[in-house]
Amino acid sequence: MPFKKKHAAGLFACALLLCGAGACHSPVQHAEALTPPPVPQNDTLSCTLLFAGDLMNHGPQIKAAYDYASGQYNYDTCYYYLAPLIRSADVAIANLEVTLGGAPFTGYPMFSAPDAYATAVKNAGFDLLETANNHSCDRNKKGVVRTLDVLDSLDLLHTGTFRNKQERDSLYPLLYEKNGIRFCLLNATYGTNGLPVPEPTVVNLLDSVQLKQDFAKARQSGADLIIMTVHWGLEYQRTPSADQKKWADFFIREGAGLIIGAHPHVVQTYELREAYGRKVPVFYSLGNFISNQRERYKDGGIMARIRVTRAAGVTQIARVEYTPVWVQKQMSPKVVYRLIPADFKADSIFTPGEKLLYKTFMDDTRKHLQNLPAF
Ligand SMILES: [Zn+2]
Repeated sequence: MPFKKKHAAGLFACALLLCGAGACHSPVQHAEALTPPPVPQNDTLSCTLLFAGDLMNHGPQIKAAYDYASGQYNYDTCYYYLAPLIRSADVAIANLEVTLGGAPFTGYPMFSAPDAYATAVKNAGFDLLETANNHSCDRNKKGVVRTLDVLDSLDLLHTGTFRNKQERDSLYPLLYEKNGIRFCLLNATYGTNGLPVPEPTVVNLLDSVQLKQDFAKARQSGADLIIMTVHWGLEYQRTPSADQKKWADFFIREGAGLIIGAHPHVVQTYELREAYGRKVPVFYSLGNFISNQRERYKDGGIMARIRVTRAAGVTQIARVEYTPVWVQKQMSPKVVYRLIPADFKADSIFTPGEKLLYKTFMDDTRKHLQNLPAF
């Protein structure tokens, strides 16, 4: 598949100073600190962000991606029906929940995916991957470092894990400019499945002291929008936990303008939180993006689409919407995983059983997110 052509985008300089004791902005001051340079009155800038949930690669997916004729792995088929939608966004972001740690390739519980897995993610149109999650350390130091090497070689931006502290200091939080709007992206995980983070690598954890410093840096960056992407919550729970709500309050207090969560492997409810004079969209969990989990609620996820505008010096979240995505696992003549969008017309590729699973997932998800427009 060809790479998508997007408008020029880029990281902007990120040599930021941490604010000293007592010098950090309060949330109220924050609004002033983020006041962007004036733009002509009628000149509205616009950028569409697309977020997807957990990119998993279980053992059966590895087997299915292997082509015996060529001896190669290829995952492009997974994205055949969804890539146009992913590519239509200005910036597409997802959570990479495997390492690219080299062979032997393994699924649960210690993931190492073939490099072709990331190539397909790039080909599908993703621009940026979050890498801090409970599987970041599944292949120790080599896994953390090699994952970043492969993503760099594919020109896929990433944030959340780092080769060392110096790298984190210079690259984090991630600053990204697109269509004239500047975003600052943070990413952290509740833990790493009890595995130690191998020295000297860094995996961002939900550590309030560190996060306060990171948010201070984010506020001082002058970004138009601070986005917190977070790996949190209880697996298979369709509503957020008290702990997630507490962390969401913390992120909003620290200046987050958008919160995107993952990890529970099911879609959780959505909330528009109002605090400190701001309205902050909170997606507690986007669910699985692609996986081999086949049970009800786990066999798909949602993509969140956020339109951000800037006019007359004011940045606004102009629209928040979602679309459900189901994972088809075709069993014969060979096993094939395909991401299937909503309102899919070519359903002759489904067996009658798959048609029912697809409909059930779409109905369940729409019912669960009634307070949010779908696209
Ligand atoms: Zn997870």
